[in-house]
Amino acid sequence: MNQVDYLRISLIDRCNYRCQYCMPEGSELDYILQKDLLTQEELLTLIKEIFIPLGFSKIRLTGGEPLLRNDLVEIVNQISSYEQISDLALTTNAYFLEEKAEDLYRAGLKRINISLDSLNRETFNNIIGRSAPDLWQKTWRGIQKAYQVGFDPLKINVVIIPGLNEGEIEDLAELTIERNWHLRYIEFMPIGNDELFKNRAWVPSTEIRERIKQRWGLIESQVKGNGPADVYQIPGAKGTLGFISQMSECFCDRCNRVRLSADGWLRPCLLNETGQIDLKKALRSNQNLEQLQQAVRLLLTDKSDINFKLREKGALSSYTRTMSQIGG
Ligand code: SAM
Ligand code: SF4
Repeated sequence: MNQVDYLRISLIDRCNYRCQYCMPEGSELDYILQKDLLTQEELLTLIKEIFIPLGFSKIRLTGGEPLLRNDLVEIVNQISSYEQISDLALTTNAYFLEEKAEDLYRAGLKRINISLDSLNRETFNNIIGRSAPDLWQKTWRGIQKAYQVGFDPLKINVVIIPGLNEGEIEDLAELTIERNWHLRYIEFMPIGNDELFKNRAWVPSTEIRERIKQRWGLIESQVKGNGPADVYQIPGAKGTLGFISQMSECFCDRCNRVRLSADGWLRPCLLNETGQIDLKKALRSNQNLEQLQQAVRLLLTDKSDINFKLREKGALSSYTRTMSQIGG
């Protein structure tokens, strides 16, 4: 069994965007109340007293939009001071990065993934469900700023949706020719907007690869990520192209991660809505930390089994929580 040593933490379930595939405008979302969010102190206790002793060494901060969390820089500062944590990363939509990138870098963050689904202003606004005129430009400036202050290489996350940004597969791939960026195409999953998924479906990684190959050729990259992406490169390009194919492939046997929601639920798997533990409740009722550690250890032991069983049951077709709530 794979060692589970990677924790993805959703710091907040709210977001300043309304991406069509994640939390579309008009969808009814029950936001977590402020009092129910894990506090900074609770979060750090869980990392120090539960996850590090269980061998966790990689953490990703995500959301919702993690830059909406006012204490983000302090959280990064604290986590990066733990010597057992060898990899601390953040996933963001980049809107506030222009202002925050430098502080985050100084606080010890070393890796950032940025979501950017389009290079076209109108398509971008359409996807993110917002209409202000300078949103794309501000996002782009955030990306540039992150690169300038030292986040190198940058990772860019792209979700391709038929009829929305499918025409930009090559334009987005082209970004990696002159830049040392790692672009990753993530297959659209039926989490967040079932209707869009049913109407538009999803584009398999093989199809995206084929289109890029037709234009420039494509070779397997020597640069391997430590996640589930299959990594390729346009010949001669400075950056790489990763493909995360959770719809068309099953990589449960390679999975090394668990997810902690902003209100403290620990999930063994993105697909799992039952096998979770309420860590916030345990902390707030002063449950003995050793016992809690034991419960988490048990969840990790059962994890691979749970993944495979859910796949077999076809769990990919129904969810009650969005990616922003689970921590994408
Ligand atoms: N707000 C930040 C952002 O957008 O980068 C972090 C949270 S977001 C939920 C994390 C990632 O989940 C993004 O890269 C987004 O594209 C991806 N995501 C959200 N909903 C998805 C879906 N239904 N299928 C595939 N990826 C999705
Ligand atoms: Fe917000 Fe990220 Fe979800 Fe888009 S994908 S709505 S930016 S949380």
